[in-house]
Parts: sequence; structure tokens; C-alpha cells
Amino acid sequence: MKTVLLKKPGEIGISDIAMTKRLDGQVLIKVRSAGICGSDIGAYKGVNPLVSYPRIIGHEIAGEVVEVGADEAEFKVGDRVILEPYVYCGKCYPCSIGHTNCCENLTVRGVHIEGGMAEYVSHPRHLLHKVPAGIPWHLVPMAEPLVIAMHAVKQAEVKAGQFVVVTGAGQIGLLAAQYALTIGAVPIVVDPVDERLALARSLGVTHTINPASADAVAEILSVTQGRMAEAVIECSGAAPAIRGAVDYVSYAGHIALVGWPKGDIPMPTALFTKKELTIRGSRNSVGQFPESLRLIAEGKVNVEALLTKTVSMDETPGTVADIAEHPDKYLKVTCVL
Ligand SMILES: [Zn+2]
Ligand SMILES: [Zn+2]
Repeated sequence: MKTVLLKKPGEIGISDIAMTKRLDGQVLIKVRSAGICGSDIGAYKGVNPLVSYPRIIGHEIAGEVVEVGADEAEFKVGDRVILEPYVYCGKCYPCSIGHTNCCENLTVRGVHIEGGMAEYVSHPRHLLHKVPAGIPWHLVPMAEPLVIAMHAVKQAEVKAGQFVVVTGAGQIGLLAAQYALTIGAVPIVVDPVDERLALARSLGVTHTINPASADAVAEILSVTQGRMAEAVIECSGAAPAIRGAVDYVSYAGHIALVGWPKGDIPMPTALFTKKELTIRGSRNSVGQFPESLRLIAEGKVNVEALLTKTVSMDETPGTVADIAEHPDKYLKVTCVL
């Protein structure tokens, strides 16, 4: 079967390997679509220390069930499913308290274990979710970045009527802002790229700020009438945005950190105490795929607007290389098999 294989950083191509077999407790899936994610680009560039090579990329994977175990009751051949790609151990402390998203022994497809950019994949049955009929294949993989965004909104404890600053208007930021709208919060999107802010406004975000051309703190002060934002969701991983979160947030506010910074960032920790902030990391997601799929199916979150283009499997290696070279040209690409 064909796969999209990273032989080593910078070397990607279509590779033929032996057909995958269904493993015990798993379901065999014929892959129909896959998203190209920032972490796939990081793996290609060799900047993600968690990735080992050679590696089949891809963790945003959807497809059709082609084989199930004899005792399988929930899934049948022909079902449309999406893979939850965070394979947890179920034994460590975080797993024992239900935080399987940050399992100590987590293996993520396309990172620690083989990804799903292949014609077939075998995946644990408890990590599959049925896809509603209304979502076309090229959009199904978007349910994965949406759960990342939803988890961040949860970690920041965003409530209806509250202001939530979202720093970084990439796919996660734009999805977090849209999800915040669905729960009745008021997102303020901060990003140095005007086109991204325009896209945010087209998705219903009323407040956007370009920190390169405006005083973000002053603008947020004015929008929130002096309170500052009750929540900040940091999606960029950029040092100025992470540092800025502490200024953008209100007293007694919540910050969720989703973006992965490249290095350590000095912070005014006295402000954490003075404002009594709650600062949480936000990684992967837990239990949110059904709601994510429902929001996409019902059109409550517009994922199509984030799609730069859809490519074939054969076009995927070249597209990964082009995204790595020209990241500004792309917001999101999905591959349809
Ligand atoms: Zn992803
Ligand atoms: Zn675990």
C-alpha cells in the first residue's frame, strides 16, 4: 500500500510498504482523507524532537471501516470514522485521573508511532468516532484541530459573556475564536498578519488587533471597558504573545497555553500572584470529538473557510515541502485519497 513517508528530515516521498493488517482490539480503516498539520511540517523540518525517522506522517485521519473483530458491536464495515490519534497507556497518573491527553507515555500517530497518511491504517477501536453523514471527506480531518481548540477554551474556563483574547490566528486560533462564539463568549483575535485578522472578522469575530500596528493593551482595555479579558488563549507559541498574555488578561483571569514555544520565555511572575492568575497548559484533547463533529456537521463552526486547498496523496509530499518553505501561503491543507 502507498504511504507518505518521511525518510529523514527534509526527505519526503510516496513509499510502498506491505499492506497493514488489523491488530487485536483494533479496526482496519481504508483512509479517505488526512489533514496536513503544523506538527507534520515540524517533523519534515526536523524541529520536533519527539519525532523519530523513518516515519509515516499524519495524525488527522478519517476513513471507512473495512474490517472489524469478530466480537465488534459498535463499528461495522462501511462506517465513516475519524481516528483519535492520541494513543494513551491507561496506567500512568494522568491517565488514572482521566487526563489521557497528557499521558506520560503518550504516543501520537505520525509523531511517536506511524501516522495515518497511508491507504490503510489499523487503530484501537476505543479511539474511533463515527462521522455524521453531512461532512464531506475533505473536511472531516478538521475535527482534530477543532478538538485542540475546544480543549484550550475549556482549559481557559471561558464562559458566555466573557471576553477571550486569542493570540495567533492560525487554524487553532481561528477555531478557538469560532468555538468561543458558539458558547456566547466575545473573542478578541490578536495577530500580526492583517489577512488573518480579516479572515477572523469574516468568521464573525468583531474585535481584532494587529499588535504590530496598534497598542494591544490599550485596545483590549478599551474593548473590555477597563477590565481586560477574563481569558486568554495563546495559540502562536511566539514569545511576545506568551509574554503579552499576562498583560491582556484581567485580574483573576485564566490563561491557556496551546502554542509550543521554541525556548524558555522570561515572565513577570509577580504579576501571576498580583492578578491571581490561573495559567494552564493545553495539550491535545480528551472526550471532545463527538461535539467537534457535531459542530462541523451543523455548520456552527466553519472549517471550510480555513482550508487553503485539498490535494491528492501523490501531491502531498510536494505540498508538505512547499508549506515548510512558504508557510504564509497556507492556512490548512487536507489530502483526499
Ligand atoms: Zn493536528
Ligand atoms: Zn498514561
